[in-house]
Amino acid sequence: MTKLIFITGGVVSSLGKGIASASIGALMESHGYRISMMKLDPYINVDPGTMSPFQHGEVYVTQDGAETDLDLGHYERFTNAKISRLNNVTSGQIYYSVIQKEREGKYLGKTIQVVPHITDEIKNRIMILTKKVDILICEIGGTVGDIESLPFLEAIRQLRFEYNSENTVFVHLTLVPFIRAAGELKTKPTQHSVANLREIGIQPQILLCRTEKPLSQDLKEKIALFCNVKKQAVIEAIDTPYIYEIPLIFHRQNLDKIILEHLKLPAHPHPSLERWNNIVNILHTATEKVRIAVVGKYIKLQDSYKSIYEAIVHGAISNRCRVELVKIDSEQIEKDGPEILLKEIDGVVLPGGFGVRGVDGMIKTIKYCRENQIPFLGICLGLQCSVIEFARNVIGLKEANSTEFCQHTPDPVICLLDEQKSITKLGGTMRLGSYPCIIEPRSLASKVYKKKKIYERHRHRWEFNIMYLESFKKHGMKFTGFSPDRKLVEIIEIENHPFFIATQFHPEFQSKPFACHPLFSSFVNASLQHKGKEKPC
Ligand code: GLN
Repeated sequence: MTKLIFITGGVVSSLGKGIASASIGALMESHGYRISMMKLDPYINVDPGTMSPFQHGEVYVTQDGAETDLDLGHYERFTNAKISRLNNVTSGQIYYSVIQKEREGKYLGKTIQVVPHITDEIKNRIMILTKKVDILICEIGGTVGDIESLPFLEAIRQLRFEYNSENTVFVHLTLVPFIRAAGELKTKPTQHSVANLREIGIQPQILLCRTEKPLSQDLKEKIALFCNVKKQAVIEAIDTPYIYEIPLIFHRQNLDKIILEHLKLPAHPHPSLERWNNIVNILHTATEKVRIAVVGKYIKLQDSYKSIYEAIVHGAISNRCRVELVKIDSEQIEKDGPEILLKEIDGVVLPGGFGVRGVDGMIKTIKYCRENQIPFLGICLGLQCSVIEFARNVIGLKEANSTEFCQHTPDPVICLLDEQKSITKLGGTMRLGSYPCIIEPRSLASKVYKKKKIYERHRHRWEFNIMYLESFKKHGMKFTGFSPDRKLVEIIEIENHPFFIATQFHPEFQSKPFACHPLFSSFVNASLQHKGKEKPC
């Protein structure tokens, strides 16, 4: 029987529940168990695809083309769990399908209610994912006490009751704040948050206490007593500069064994944590530093480019160096110029985005990198802006543009395919998910990938306008990745540059800490070499 681990959060949001869940997933895998992971999101949107990155942070794209919460990115980076559109369930999806069933007459005669109809639908969505795995880890978004999360909490309460206590375990992540004026860590918010859960019938068995200072034994005892959990199940989730250390921090406190005991599953005497030890060792000991700039339009929000930042860190791990991420707002480049802001930078990543704001700064950034031989990796909008920059500054098509930014440009070098022109609804209608790409031989891309055919994830509407292909080629742009029918450009490069590559797809979604995506490892490597060149000999 598949076992269930439920993870809730209390006190405040942003405590790192997704990373804590992913770390638990990694620990369960280290004991040899097959796992799956899911996130239940209480908001009414069907998916985060139509939300502004400023509201929601990154939209993570799964292989099957679902636009999901960024925590699913942590699940894929930390574990081998197979993640698809089934692994992110929102209130919007639940209500949508219950209302559809009602319209189809499936509940004939009944009054449709939160309990049991909404909660049954939630339970069904959870149970679908229990097939073929030993353990399902289910994270509940939001914070205990929110109105929206109540149906989800009620559904998991029912599941523990129906499924027996030895098949389920509840883990609650809370905050133990340090109050500077008193010089003390305070347990009251944790007590209240657990009391809140108990009021609705959920008694957590394990507490993960996010804290900036170590928890004393006395404090753990106090939390255990007031929250009705065992003292050894009060786990310290201390702040750490490296998220990849968290599985090890939890393991040192026996969190994996405590969970497995609750689930009546045997623990492996030597869980395989070698690869985690290795990367943490590199993170702590690497000395050489590389400075990578990410020039984007959603820089202000920490989470907007989560997978890109992580993939750059993976690139540093694979090159055994440290990375300093320099996050630059492309609108700032418009004001101050790239010469000032990119002065001490070893490599530049230009990530995806939507709408014209900040595009001028991106184009200036690209020109600067192209002319000054600075390693450059453009992603999605990054490719589209590279094409516009090249058309304007190399080919001389001064008004070249994307029809996304100027509908009536005389030179629409980036345009919509016919099938996109007729689309009126915004939700889930982009080119989404994994598509094949054929790589041209004797290119930087083929050197990077060492493969002829690759699969990469997409999330965009606009494409390179194939009518301009020959003219770009004549002026020195190389087209080194195409869709199998050669109608869609997937990768571009520039001649006579040490590392200038841009992709229409998002490589960052397939990078892992111990298996860095080849584009990011090669890019960081090129940036290290660029840095070497700058040094006076
Ligand atoms: N706005 C562009 C498009 O839709 C780029 C999207 C992206 O960068 N993900 O094609």
